[in-house]
Amino acid sequence: MSLPILLPGTMKRATRNPPSPMFHYLLVGLSLFSLLFFPHHSRAQVLDERVFRQSRMIMGTSVEITVSQTDSQRAEEATAAAFREVQRMDRLMSHYRQGSEVSQITRHAGEKETAVSPETLEVIERALYFSRLSGGAFDITIGPVFRLWNFREGKIPEEKSLQENLKKVDYRKIKVDRIKSSVYLEGRGMELDLGAIAKGYAVDRAAAVLRQAGVENFLVSAGGDLTVSGAKGKGMPWSIGIRHPRLPSELLAQLRPVQAAVATSGDYEKFFLKGGERYHHILTPATGLPARECQSVTIMAPSAMDADALATSIFVLGPKEGFALLERLPDVHAIIVDRRGSVLLSPRWPAAILSPP
Ligand code: ADP
Ligand code: MG
Repeated sequence: MSLPILLPGTMKRATRNPPSPMFHYLLVGLSLFSLLFFPHHSRAQVLDERVFRQSRMIMGTSVEITVSQTDSQRAEEATAAAFREVQRMDRLMSHYRQGSEVSQITRHAGEKETAVSPETLEVIERALYFSRLSGGAFDITIGPVFRLWNFREGKIPEEKSLQENLKKVDYRKIKVDRIKSSVYLEGRGMELDLGAIAKGYAVDRAAAVLRQAGVENFLVSAGGDLTVSGAKGKGMPWSIGIRHPRLPSELLAQLRPVQAAVATSGDYEKFFLKGGERYHHILTPATGLPARECQSVTIMAPSAMDADALATSIFVLGPKEGFALLERLPDVHAIIVDRRGSVLLSPRWPAAILSPP
């Protein structure tokens, strides 16, 4: 993978008038700090006498559950139940699974409504909320356009098919009936893709299952989306590393929240370089082209679902409109690496939980 030249960056707090420089250190991108030190394991692994970690491939990504718990049997049972819940969400909401509710909605586009579970309904309604809030920057009907991109083979879609399929992208044509718990796509050929929100929701569901089982100290992560609760050990908070968007093995900063959900969208997850341009998997729904304003967006929010959807939304909107949107969401905070590599913090970012790498 060839990487552009890396320049030292400046971390800034976003303000309406010129942002003031905060710390100087190397720019970095996003992932779990702990992942850098412990390789993935599919079997339960005991890190010390009370920290248990397990990971599985679900939703096309590595889902990892770490619990800090003296009762090892409870830890194992709770973790197993949490994984089952993530799997259940995948069966409901994956657009890669023929039998999922989301695939059924797509199959019935332009024909009839589809009855869905309360979970699928909740995620679609929340997605619509973020579509409205972002003025369409977030759009779960992106599927027909997204499908034209081939990031593995580095192929740019033909202009004609792009324009043709753009006509099928419009979240306003998703009709939700709460009473009947059904969803209908009004236009023929429309598709549903919950790829930018479902992982976050699955993390929230796993966290709820762990809490129900009496586990209070845990970290659940699916790809770059995660939630933490409590602590890893006495006086040892969970540590979340924000990865450098251009240097995969370096960190931008670390977060040590007691209770928070954090998600990142980056242009380094699925991408190819062509003619000096980077083409990646977060698209501007209006054009069908990769969003250009950011390298990565990290969101801290009360739920992982919101963090996931907002990371994608703000990535598309860019720092200026993104920070303007956040002014309406007092519990949500952002770290944006803009297209030039400057690191911007939203004004109310709680400084105590952020530290240099
Ligand atoms: P990741 O899946 O890498 O965590 P995101 O949460 O940003 O990243 O989700 C990106 C996925 O969401 C894409 O793979 C695609 O399926 C879908 N997507 C791309 N652009 C948008 C958009 N503007 N709005 C909603 N979903 C999108
Ligand atoms: Mg997302």
